[in-house]
Amino acid sequence: MIAKTAMGLPLKGLRLAIKSSDILIQTAGTQALRLKTWYEEGKANEAASEQPTATSNVNELSPANDDTSINTKTSASTSDNNKTLSTEKPIDIRELEFKKAPINWIPATILITTPIAAAVITPWYLFTHQVSAPVWGVFGAFMVWTGISITAGYHRLLAHRAYKAHPIVKNFLLLGSTLAVQGSAFDWVSGHRSHHRHVDDRMDDPYSAKRGFFFSHIGWMLKNYPSGKFDYKNIPDLTKDRTLQIQHKYYGLWVLAANVGLVAAIGWLIGDVWGTLVLAGLLRLVLTHHFTFFINSLCHMFGSRPYTDTNTARDNFFLALFTWGEGYHNYHHFFQYDYRNGVKWWQYDPTKWLIAGLSKVGLTTELRTIDDTTIKHAEVQMQFKKAQQQIDTVNAGGLDIPHAMKTFQDRIKFEFEAFTQTVEEWQALKAKAIEMKKTEFADRLHEVDDKLKHEYANIEQKIHEHNDNLKVAFRSIGHNSKAA
Ligand SMILES: [Zn+2]
Ligand SMILES: [Zn+2]
Repeated sequence: MIAKTAMGLPLKGLRLAIKSSDILIQTAGTQALRLKTWYEEGKANEAASEQPTATSNVNELSPANDDTSINTKTSASTSDNNKTLSTEKPIDIRELEFKKAPINWIPATILITTPIAAAVITPWYLFTHQVSAPVWGVFGAFMVWTGISITAGYHRLLAHRAYKAHPIVKNFLLLGSTLAVQGSAFDWVSGHRSHHRHVDDRMDDPYSAKRGFFFSHIGWMLKNYPSGKFDYKNIPDLTKDRTLQIQHKYYGLWVLAANVGLVAAIGWLIGDVWGTLVLAGLLRLVLTHHFTFFINSLCHMFGSRPYTDTNTARDNFFLALFTWGEGYHNYHHFFQYDYRNGVKWWQYDPTKWLIAGLSKVGLTTELRTIDDTTIKHAEVQMQFKKAQQQIDTVNAGGLDIPHAMKTFQDRIKFEFEAFTQTVEEWQALKAKAIEMKKTEFADRLHEVDDKLKHEYANIEQKIHEHNDNLKVAFRSIGHNSKAA
């Protein structure tokens, strides 16, 4: 009887899923028809507005050109003369697809109902029931297991191949990631690799921060957006993995087995099934959902950019506390294959400590890191960029440049020339190292390594000196070089 009831649960879920997918297929059919109409309309509009588009491209290419104003005027007068052309901007079919994307029913239902249920049931349950210490213990353990499985498992192990894991570790993290209800490994990793490849692109980054907080946090999963359709071409390493194939194929059943079956079984063992389901099941699920989602939303909004400003990713200690170390997102976007996100030894990154700890007992191997000189080089380059921005802002302000600023300008110029020379020496050393390793006999390679080590240390020392000199220069104008 119990077995029948237990079996009934996933089957009911499955029937619900099939019913929902029927609705989805019907909706998709209607959408396809609408899309065809939009496409045809869009094509007609594109042809009609070919001329004004060309003019606006010229303007875009030469924003600093004095002639721009003339071009703008010409285009404005053209628009005045022809009202049809002025209102008919070329229609971007993909943007239309975004606007009219159909609801992604299963994820939308889960992501909307679980936070409401947690907000209502948890306080009610805590007021009306005694919760034992073991239940709180299981809640804590599941919080850690689920959260860190996403960061160490789905993210650093599967998406970035930042290290290799023993099957015990891999499967433990895979089960924890299934508990997290964030999609199968195929979907999660395919989406994440697209995020890195097309970061901030409104069309191709599945959780583009350029579409705002709501979209990057949760909105991207609520509808079937074109950027959220994964073809798995970017995960050939995962699609041949038998375990991951099984997880993907029976994902719904795995999710139910982990989140209901496993949680209830543990609850039964500690003598409180409902308490464990409410806290270690529901509340834990909602909290870990949103802590992970912070990485895509808040970590692209608030914090510093010490390594690159070519994308919106930020380093943020406070967010690292909630995201098991993934708050150092600026570093991660620049050096994504490093198993560390908080790269400095003192930065709070429990995921890196776990991976490094497991390597001591042989459960993780081949931990990938970026060398210190390359990291420091990126930081110093960013400092120069910030210095140049300071100089440009002051210069744009007018003729009366303060004395301290003039000195700063000279210092930066001098330091940049010295830095360029160091970088050239470094590049030459790298070329020399490759050449020496090619021509030297194998038994003398360690001697070559020793010699090169010394020369590399010299370069690293010099880059650190440039960094220190820049700090002094920034202080002279009352600025903290770390400020983003
Ligand atoms: Zn990101
Ligand atoms: Zn990543």
